[in-house]
Amino acid sequence: MAKKGLLIVISGPSGVGKGTVLKEFINDPALKLAYSVSMTTREKRPGEIEGVSYDFVSRAEFDKARDEGELLEWCEFVGNCYGTPLKGVERLRNEGKNVLLEIEVQGCQQVRKKCPDALTIFIVPPNMEELENRIRGRRTEPEEIVQQRLAKATKEMEMIGQYKYVVCNEDPKLAADIIRVIIKRHMENEL
Ligand code: 5GP
Repeated sequence: MAKKGLLIVISGPSGVGKGTVLKEFINDPALKLAYSVSMTTREKRPGEIEGVSYDFVSRAEFDKARDEGELLEWCEFVGNCYGTPLKGVERLRNEGKNVLLEIEVQGCQQVRKKCPDALTIFIVPPNMEELENRIRGRRTEPEEIVQQRLAKATKEMEMIGQYKYVVCNEDPKLAADIIRVIIKRHMENEL
């Protein structure tokens, strides 16, 4: 039987560029990664793909999955629900894949309780002005939501102490290289 894969949590405030950093290393075969597709009640953004970016579900579908214990963790974030389906995570880890969750801080807290040896990484922006520019640059959301995301980002930054590693996204390629090293060292049981 394959050695059980790692559970890797990547968090970081909205707009920090998690997706860009992730793209740099997710397909590296040496890391044996599998991305856990979350469920969300949020509206699909332009360019997002059903079943790849998220499983876009109704609130009723989300509540049912949560109430039936199908989620490893879940949260409410700026008016929408997000959650990680448990079944897929377990199956992939049992196949020896290192499963990557891209989730926010409350979700990470729940994961740490259930799985204390999860490898947790928080991505920070070079500074908060840069973060605001990135959130605004997306131009897909009304000002009210932008403000809520900024307030949430500030709160999330206060939670970095619960993560094993903090990586700055000054440059996505460099941030990805650092994360690559962290994952490899954990795969080799060196950390
Ligand atoms: P967005 O709407 O920008 O795609 O995501 C908003 C926040 O929800 C991000 O911080 C993202 O990491 C987080 N998120 C996405 N999926 C999940 C999930 O399944 N669980 C939790 N707890 N957070 C999630």
